[in-house]
Amino acid sequence: MEYSKLVDVYEQLNKTTKRLEKTHIIAEFLKEISIDDMEHVILLLEGRIFPNYDAREIGVASRLMLKSLGIAIGIGIDKIEKEWKKQGDLGLVAELLVKTKKQATLHSTKLTTKKVFENLRKLAEIEGEGTVERKTQLIAELLTSAKPVESKYIVKTILGEMRIGVGEGAMRDAIVWAFFGNKIGIKYAREMNDIEVEDREVYNKYADAVQSAYDVTNEFALVAKAAKSKGLDALENIGMKVGIPIQVMLALKVDTIEEAFETVGKPAAIEFKYDGFRIQAHKGEKGGIRLFTRRLEDVTKQFPDVVEYIKKHVKGKSFIIDSEAVGYDKKTGRYLPFQNISQRIKRKYDIDRMSNDFPVEVNVFDIINFEGKSMINEEFEKRRKLLEKIVKQEPKKIVVSKIKIVSEKKDVEKFFKEAVNAGNEGLMFKSLNSPYKPGARVGYMIKFKHMMETLDLVIVGAEWGEGKRARWLSSYTVACLDENDDFLEVGKVSTGLKEKEEEGLSFMEMTRLLKPLIISEKGKEVKIKPKIIIEVGYEEIQKSPTYESGLALRFPRVISQRIDKGPHEASTLDYVKKLYAGQKKS
Ligand code: ATP
Repeated sequence: MEYSKLVDVYEQLNKTTKRLEKTHIIAEFLKEISIDDMEHVILLLEGRIFPNYDAREIGVASRLMLKSLGIAIGIGIDKIEKEWKKQGDLGLVAELLVKTKKQATLHSTKLTTKKVFENLRKLAEIEGEGTVERKTQLIAELLTSAKPVESKYIVKTILGEMRIGVGEGAMRDAIVWAFFGNKIGIKYAREMNDIEVEDREVYNKYADAVQSAYDVTNEFALVAKAAKSKGLDALENIGMKVGIPIQVMLALKVDTIEEAFETVGKPAAIEFKYDGFRIQAHKGEKGGIRLFTRRLEDVTKQFPDVVEYIKKHVKGKSFIIDSEAVGYDKKTGRYLPFQNISQRIKRKYDIDRMSNDFPVEVNVFDIINFEGKSMINEEFEKRRKLLEKIVKQEPKKIVVSKIKIVSEKKDVEKFFKEAVNAGNEGLMFKSLNSPYKPGARVGYMIKFKHMMETLDLVIVGAEWGEGKRARWLSSYTVACLDENDDFLEVGKVSTGLKEKEEEGLSFMEMTRLLKPLIISEKGKEVKIKPKIIIEVGYEEIQKSPTYESGLALRFPRVISQRIDKGPHEASTLDYVKKLYAGQKKS
């Protein structure tokens, strides 16, 4: 394809900000691209030369571009720089200067998209001695054959400054319109403010197929090629490739355990929700391992330790697994919040020291492909069983995520406590029979970061009531335990108890329990020997100078008396602090 054709599309796209109009322009253009040109033309259309998951870069900065422009156009760099200051955009400068030059020396060779693409890829490959000279030459070569408007886009593409607004949504819809438009019965409404679709259901079927194909390949070029050459079937069978990241499945959020069960069903799997960062690990037939973040950035180089664990501890010639890498304290072994290891992700040097200073444990929680076979349509339970079979667990290196299959709220509460105590953010709920849905936030996976976890607190003080409550101790000072087993106050609670005995735990009963435990009295206030434990709910935990613990409960209420617990089994300050930290994060 002639490059000028693509440039014409860039120009059209730049003239509108309307998403539908852009989509229409792209759709019409897609129909014209031959199968052979499809891959590189679509990448160029997106303003790139590598797919988004590919970490390679063209590696040309403005300085080098100035130099190349100087050579191509044959004028001094200071002059170009002056123009750059005026225009603020090197692409525009290139267009202007090439225009003036072209009037003198008319060029007749026509650039093709292929030539532009190949030269740009070569740019990315050049390294070592003479890099600057060779890069400058390559760019200059392109610019000398380019028409003014073409040079504008060549420069912008090289500098990564295309910004023509071809987003994911527009691209997906354009592929649907271009290759399935006749099947759907699409009409463009006037002014491009809307499109009319005869049958939404059919439309969605094609749109979903295009989206799913994109979610496993991450390349619209491949999706469009499949759609154009073989239609829907090809899209549905487009395979994921080990080594190329797929979009990760995302989680919905709920606030209550009931809601979580409603969404994923009973029984459900619950897992620790680790506070690390997601790593999608690929192992190819030849043994090569690649690691990608949730945003599909290649972080293989930054995590040689993880590569090693996967190589040594996961059985199988080829696979794709999904995991969370969590940092831990080298001395205590306790999990650390994400911030502590986040610096490893972008690190380009001192990698070995970093992996030694900030070690991570890989918690594998899903498998997407195994021995060349996609696992995404298998049920979660089956995927999990396979994981347990192939991961040779070694704590502090690589383990399978901690899991429980439950149907009861109390079991969730127990596991939640365990999770928070071990330094995690909360729990993930997973539906046992659901597939893995790349790129989707559907209810197959649910995050549950903090429930209004109740606390078991000891009554250490109380206050006589007023008016009709004058005979009762009606407000209670409650405390948690510090590490020395001392009681630290965290608040005062006066709601939750009943005024009538027949309605449940009443003020009267509580007064009866507490009266013999009074140590001292001062005005209305009494000090109580720590013996009675109550379960306390609240809206929130806040920092507070009022209480010795440094924390206070907002809107506390008595839920029940914990007759089964002694005072030294009360909630610890450490636990209250963790709940406080957990609620701050979300
Ligand atoms: P989201 O990923 O839902 O857009 P977010 O970036 O704020 O939101 P979180 O709220 O932390 O992420 O919740 C989802 C993330 O939890 C997952 O992307 C994954 O990285 C992490 N995670 C930790 N433990 C697990 C687990 N056992 N199973 C699945 N994901 C887990």
